[in-house]
Order: sequence, then C-alpha cells, then structure tokens
Amino acid sequence: MDSEPADPDDPSDEALTELVNYLTPRRDNEMIATYQNTTAIACPVCEEPFDYLIASKGPQSSLSLDEVMDLCVSVSDDDRAFLFTHE
Ligand SMILES: [Zn+2]
Repeated sequence: MDSEPADPDDPSDEALTELVNYLTPRRDNEMIATYQNTTAIACPVCEEPFDYLIASKGPQSSLSLDEVMDLCVSVSDDDRAFLFTHE
C-alpha cells in the first residue's frame, strides 16, 4: 500500500500556532512558553474553554505543575507539544 502524504487541508498545525496570537503571554523559558486564555477560547482538543496553553519549544520539554489539573495535548507538525490546561 502506498503511504499517503499528510493531508494538505489539515488545518490543525496552523491553528495551533495561530491560536497563540489570541492568548496572553505569561511565562517563558528556554523550553516552554505559557499563555493564559483570557478570552475563553475553546480548546482544539475537547472544545471546552481552557485556562492556560503550555507550548513546548522543541521535541522534548519538561515542566513542573503546581497542581494536578486536567490536560489536553496536541502535537504540531514540527513535534512541538501544546498542552491545554483545564481547572
Ligand atoms: Zn481540552
């Protein structure tokens, strides 16, 4: 079977990086950037409004969470993880 190329109409990667433009930057370090969702944008994974977006800047990141929370995770085409937190 031939392997199918990635669907060029798949908007998910562009949507992930574009989403950041609508969020408020909070914390930033070498590995991750954190943004606060001050306008109740829906999480692209579960479609409920999320509280923070934690965007990794490379294929590997570590982060420490202050508290246990619900997370949704999406990975962009360049292997960066985007974590959406829900209280
Ligand atoms: Zn979610």
